[in-house]
This record gives sequence, structure tokens and C-alpha cells, in this order.
Amino acid sequence: MSELLIYINGDCVPRSEARVSVYDHGFLYGDGVFESIKAYNGRVFKLKEHVDRLYDSAKAIAMDIYLTKDEMTEVILETLRKNNLKDAYVRLVVSRGIGDLGLDPRKCEKPNIIVIAQGWGAMYGNRYEAGIIGVSVCVRRNAPDVLSPNIKSLNYLNNILAKIEANEKGGDEAIFLDQNGFVCEGSADNIFVVKNGKVYTPLTISNLKGITRATVIEVLDQMGYETIEANLGLFDLYTADEIFVTGTLAEMAPLIKVDGRLIGDGKPGPIAKKLARGLKEVTANSGTPIYS
Ligand code: PMP
Repeated sequence: MSELLIYINGDCVPRSEARVSVYDHGFLYGDGVFESIKAYNGRVFKLKEHVDRLYDSAKAIAMDIYLTKDEMTEVILETLRKNNLKDAYVRLVVSRGIGDLGLDPRKCEKPNIIVIAQGWGAMYGNRYEAGIIGVSVCVRRNAPDVLSPNIKSLNYLNNILAKIEANEKGGDEAIFLDQNGFVCEGSADNIFVVKNGKVYTPLTISNLKGITRATVIEVLDQMGYETIEANLGLFDLYTADEIFVTGTLAEMAPLIKVDGRLIGDGKPGPIAKKLARGLKEVTANSGTPIYS
């Protein structure tokens, strides 16, 4: 098998030669933004939405990306084409670029733009049928007035701390609360709760404005369920009929247990099952063609 080709600042280089400087501020300070994107069956799912969100994240950290959105879109498609990929995970990274050891971003001349595209299945592997286990974590989600979770920044340490805690507690996914005890999201996915036939999800203040979240709200709407954006607490999770998390890599995963409480009857519920089919339909049949 030939080596993967990685896009770095206009060049496509073999994976073994793909490098960035140790003076890159993405490496030194987590200064930069990224996107996780998936391609299914020769089409990139919600490509425009991901590119738009990347540029919004960059704007929020006052970083100019020197490519236009159209150019960036073409770079992503071209990287997939160069690697002959049809089903793939795309990691799009824009770091502040090379500076000195001080954190002032004015010292960085130009962002580094990197696109990695490779095969990668859904995040929870073979756990989708049976459902996954959620645990609430002590570490709180970054407050929106400290480091907004709306920014998909290269600084994922808050999420990593949550994941470490979930691993320690034997959970598949962490559930973040905010400083007020309201449910925010998972370490890498948004969260939905079903109770008495109604679907709820937290507002997008203390979490990422998930692209899968938006798609799931549409699919649920087509299924006849309106999604209510609301403040939710742990009580709402413990007493839910169904809970599921959504994300580009997570896709849609039902939670069957939270902090030792069985959710519903401890099996993926009917809405989650129907939604899984609905979401698969959408991902398989929409998106920007890679090879046209
Ligand atoms: N929240 C966080 C913290 C995430 O990292 C992700 C994954 N990108 C999500 C939510 C889900 O967002 P999306 O559906 O856009 O992948």
C-alpha cells in the first residue's frame, strides 16, 4: 500500500515526511483551530458547514486564514482525491503558525494549514448495537467567557481531562456539566435526552455547535419529534427514557447507563434506533461529491 499523502501549506507530502516546526504555536500553546469531517461513499458530509465553522473558530481567535473558503474546500477534496479515498475521516488543522517562544500571536507570520485524510470508522467501534456507558465528570466544561466551547480550538485539554476521568470511572464517554451544574455535552459529542416522547438537548452556549446535532434535529423533525433546547440537569439524565450522543466521529450512539443508573430498560430505545437508520440514510445520500 502506498503511503498516505498529507497536505501541508500547498504541498502534499508522504505521511512519514509530514512535519511541522516545534516553534509552531499550535504545538507550543494549542493556538489554532480544527475540524473533523467525514466522507461517506465518495461524498463529504456537510463540507460547507465544516468549512464555515472552521472560519468562525478562526475569527473568534482573531486568526486570518489566507485561503478563501472555496480554496479550502478544494484543498480538502483534492487531498481526498490524491489518496483515492471514498470513505474517510478528514482532520483539517489551521495553527497560528511559527513564532518564537513567547505566546504573542503577532510574532507568527502565517498560519500552518494541514489536511490529513484517512480511513477511520465510527468512534465507539462495535458498541452501537448494545449502547454505551456515560459518566458525569468532576471537571467542568470550559466556561463560555473563559474559552468558549463554540471555538473548535486546538486546545482540547478540557475534553482530554474529561476523557481521562471517564476512563478511570469505566465509562465510554464523559458527560460535562457547566459551573451551574447544567449538562453541556460529551468530551467529543453533543447530547440528547428523551422523556415522555419529547426530545431535549442543551442550548449551544457551553458546548460545540455540533453539525451532527443540527442534522439530528432535522432528522428527528422528519420523524415527527420537535427538539426542545433546554437546561438539563443530572436528574433529567438519570430519569430519561433514552439518551444519545451525536458527533461527526461518534455519529449517533445511544447511552444505556449514566452514573450507574440504567437509562430506560438499559437497551437502546425506539427513537434512537429509528434515528440511527434516519441518520445513516442522510450520511449515505448527501454531501459534496469528491470525484465529479
Ligand atoms: N462537542 C465536542 C466537544 C466535539 O469535539 C464534537 C466533535 N466535533 C462535537 C460536540 C460534535 O460536533 P460535530 O457533530 O460537528 O462533529
